[in-house]
Amino acid sequence: MKEKKGVVVTYDRMRCDFCGACVGVCPADAIVLWEADLEIDREKCTGCLRCVYVCPYRALSATTD
Ligand code: SF4
Ligand code: SF4
Repeated sequence: MKEKKGVVVTYDRMRCDFCGACVGVCPADAIVLWEADLEIDREKCTGCLRCVYVCPYRALSATTD
């Protein structure tokens, strides 16, 4: 696993409003926003959690594996 401290960001499509806020704060360019979907590249993600804190809909959460 490349994630820092084993952090894995989990995405909940049912909560997401596709506002793009998480994409803007990700320093690793790990988030790709499609028309109605969002993808997190686990290889790029450093586990900084900025996206988790910025999401106004709590669509992103962090777990460890
Ligand atoms: S945890 Fe940080 S690096 Fe990973 S997707 Fe979120 S903002 Fe990007
Ligand atoms: S910040 Fe939250 S609601 Fe906005 S696109 Fe990202 S996951 Fe979806």
